[in-house]
Amino acid sequence: MDYKTHLTGGIALGIGTVYLSQKVNLNIQPLLLVGGAAIGSLLPDIDHPKSYLGNKIPILPTLLYNSVGHRSLTHSLLFAAIISTLLGFIDITLGIGMFIGIISHILLDMLTPQGVSYLYPLKKKRIKWFKFKP
Ligand SMILES: [Zn+2]
Repeated sequence: MDYKTHLTGGIALGIGTVYLSQKVNLNIQPLLLVGGAAIGSLLPDIDHPKSYLGNKIPILPTLLYNSVGHRSLTHSLLFAAIISTLLGFIDITLGIGMFIGIISHILLDMLTPQGVSYLYPLKKKRIKWFKFKP
């Protein structure tokens, strides 16, 4: 999937979360949550040097791609938890937004035939939503 699809998915899930949080009277900053979700929706593909984000950052995407491969570490629940917790120390709403964005990315990549190792490093097998026949 291209970055526009991931960005759209992250923003949509972020807006949905803002809507639900207002229904239960949670005090969050909508723009911060949706902004975090937007960035989080692009972040997992930092493990590929030719991705939208990986194309703009030196060295790290190539290192990740050559060491753990595409759609493994940065497409895992562990990565989502670590990044969102670290950002949560700066601002809890930003951390929640980032978590939502990363999860949206993982869910969308699971729709593709390649699947995602979302339980990396516990399970390296790629999981996908559907079985694809040639
Ligand atoms: Zn991806």
